[in-house]
Amino acid sequence: MTDTSQRPNSALQFARANKSIPGGVNSPARAFGAVGGTPPFIARGEGPFLFDIDGNKYIDYIGSWGPHILGHRHPAIIKAIQAALETGTSFGAPTVAESDLAELVISLVPSIEKVRMVNSGTEATMSAIRLARGFTGRDTVIKFAGCYHGHVDSLLVQAGSGALTLGTPSSPGVPAGCTSDTLVLPYNNVPAVTEAFEKNGDKLAAIILEPVCGNMGCVIPSDAFLQALRQLCTAHGCVLIFDEVMTGFRVGMNCAQERLGITPDLTTLGKILGGGMPVGAYGGRADIMDAVSPVGAVYQAGTLSGNPVAMASGLATLQQLKADNPYPQLEERANQLADGLLDAAAQAAIPVQINRVGSMLTMFFNEQPVTDFMTATASDTEKFSKWFHGMLDRGIYLPCSQYEALFVSATHTTELIDETIQAAREVLATI
Ligand SMILES: *Cc1c(COP(=O)(O)O)cnc(C)c1O
Repeated sequence: MTDTSQRPNSALQFARANKSIPGGVNSPARAFGAVGGTPPFIARGEGPFLFDIDGNKYIDYIGSWGPHILGHRHPAIIKAIQAALETGTSFGAPTVAESDLAELVISLVPSIEKVRMVNSGTEATMSAIRLARGFTGRDTVIKFAGCYHGHVDSLLVQAGSGALTLGTPSSPGVPAGCTSDTLVLPYNNVPAVTEAFEKNGDKLAAIILEPVCGNMGCVIPSDAFLQALRQLCTAHGCVLIFDEVMTGFRVGMNCAQERLGITPDLTTLGKILGGGMPVGAYGGRADIMDAVSPVGAVYQAGTLSGNPVAMASGLATLQQLKADNPYPQLEERANQLADGLLDAAAQAAIPVQINRVGSMLTMFFNEQPVTDFMTATASDTEKFSKWFHGMLDRGIYLPCSQYEALFVSATHTTELIDETIQAAREVLATI
């Protein structure tokens, strides 16, 4: 169990927050529900580090759950945000920065010919589903067990991330009618998808998936699975949606679709796209995107969508990624971490599975390979809790659930990775 005596101020603030905010947090994954104890309250971030209000320093492997691939407070991003602030915070009218970011996204993401900015990943997936339904004139959507697409009503069935961690695979407050057109299938299972198309092919509006899953922990798709999805969608006029809110600009400059060699019809983005500000986007084939209002009839809007401060942050982030190309280094560092963790676990005789794609990875306390929801949830979450708290007490800030991916940033040095592996050796020896 965690040593809260290291964090008395955070414990006090958590008790205070619990009186005015449900569970003390504005997003459930932050509450330590799965691992027990109380979360550090963060005072500031710098590069690969977080500092809490108790004066503790952590090597951060969450990066705000994905956005900070360049580390905290990257100077170019901070400068761009400050410059945007000087001109105002929101106008509710077109700005040049919106076209700048749209064009950059289109140039980087193979499937995207037109793109609409929104304010979160949830908004992006919700809008993409509505668009696919409006465009096809069909209702049924396929999602995969363990994939998380934000808290969209119709997609909150056997969802991953916080929903999985908290053991509420479907949420109260989602009417049965909202999910009755959602088919949930196992990830990486070609026969199940083939059968669904044989039975319902002419009713299927869309398939939505994480092209590399991060929200049941990192789960890697098979080539055969992705190719089957592409072929079935094309043959049946069904819209293939890659939810790249996590993988977009994370597993490569051109997202998972380029890395995996599959072109979806629509793509959703978020997280890194905003560089730490609230930004989401959905985009894809121009003929589909032109069904969106005001060109087409599928309605979607947002008072703060394309916000100038958020656009400046996103633009600076993608420009910096393009200029630096940190991806080869990210690959190396994440591989160094994975190898070190595997070795540390082997020495402690603890069975683990590490799934990694680029700089996202999960160490599962599991004896069997993890390829889908069923195998992921066979993991030993008690061991995970001990691991998590042991690492936190040694200044290593990992995601507080077995069913999340950790992220390496461009600011994580080989020395910091070594320090992390050393801490892992100590912690695994005590489990
Ligand atoms: C984080 C995430 C979302 C939700 O994004 P929010 O900005 O939290 O609404 C959707 N899909 C995937 C794959 C995600 O990782």
